[in-house]
Amino acid sequence: MSITNTKDRRPGDSMVLDTRRQPLVLRTLVSPRIADLVTEFRIKFPYCVGPSKLLQSLLLVDRCLCADLDTRLGKALTSLPNLQVLHINCLFCPDEEDTRHRYLADLVTTSLRELCLYCKCSRIRIEKSQHILSAPCMQSVITLDWIASGGRVRPDVYDVLTHTYRKVLPLVTKLRYGRTVDLEGIVAGRPITHLGCHTMKDGLHGALSKNTGALNRLRVDENWSNINFYMGRDPEPYRSLRHFGCFRFIGCASNYILKQMLPFAILEHLQSIEVFNHTIRLSRTEDREERNPWKVSLLDSLYKQHRRLKKIFIKDLVEVNKLTGEKCDCFLWERRESWERYSVSQFTDWDMVLGFEPQVVH
Ligand SMILES: [Zn+2]
Ligand SMILES: [Zn+2]
Repeated sequence: MSITNTKDRRPGDSMVLDTRRQPLVLRTLVSPRIADLVTEFRIKFPYCVGPSKLLQSLLLVDRCLCADLDTRLGKALTSLPNLQVLHINCLFCPDEEDTRHRYLADLVTTSLRELCLYCKCSRIRIEKSQHILSAPCMQSVITLDWIASGGRVRPDVYDVLTHTYRKVLPLVTKLRYGRTVDLEGIVAGRPITHLGCHTMKDGLHGALSKNTGALNRLRVDENWSNINFYMGRDPEPYRSLRHFGCFRFIGCASNYILKQMLPFAILEHLQSIEVFNHTIRLSRTEDREERNPWKVSLLDSLYKQHRRLKKIFIKDLVEVNKLTGEKCDCFLWERRESWERYSVSQFTDWDMVLGFEPQVVH
């Protein structure tokens, strides 16, 4: 478990708590004197392999504490009257009964403005989403990040949800969600300005065409080129975009990149983009930098296509390690008089949706 230190907090700051101290901290939060002071709470639970004793011994992990920790978290959170920002990163083992996190509907705060739930443990079925999101404590939420390993929903449910969700989360303008389709109802009929999603689909495109706000920032995790198809069908939902990501270019040459990005030239306000780049070396002796297409010549050509383009945030994949995951160099190309390149701190998908710019690293 790690809990972000809310005092003098900077992105990435956190305390890692061992299993003995986790329940203690959650119990302390219930104390009225402490509870009144908490306005932001971010928590990340440890990865759990599940109740299997064999797996636990093989991977040298503690016994499964998921149900107990979730209950304690619920008690703590429902004691915080002034909570404004809540982030839960749940890496609990699967919960077949889908009973966890229901306490989110019982928060006592009336000033919650930001809720981020990344949940690996449950399917978050429609009934549960509705139960949580229609609760009185959710009425004030402006920013919602909702990523769950959800199941499939029958298409005809969509209309029902669109109708139902009009009554809930009336203030949401910034939204990111994962594979579940039930939150598309929130997009339709609401002034969504910032949106992050897994991929663009018919349902979401349709919902966006009913969106009453000017969509300012859009980030799709996969299949970004689908947007070309949807912009060709109806560009209106995307006309106000100032930021788009994430373009993914794996071993691509400059000419290919320019061609792929040409349809975006109709977006007259596009000022910044996010790119995931992976330059593939053909031989061991070949210099990766030499082959990397993101150079001034490409940027100048891009600028001819996109006259307002000022910032390009790039994650450059340098290493894939089975144990430690991906390692990326992050940098920013910024256009003032000419293009300048800066190394920047690591940034998340959610940072890009919200427009939190990474810091320049010297
Ligand atoms: Zn567990
Ligand atoms: Zn969960």
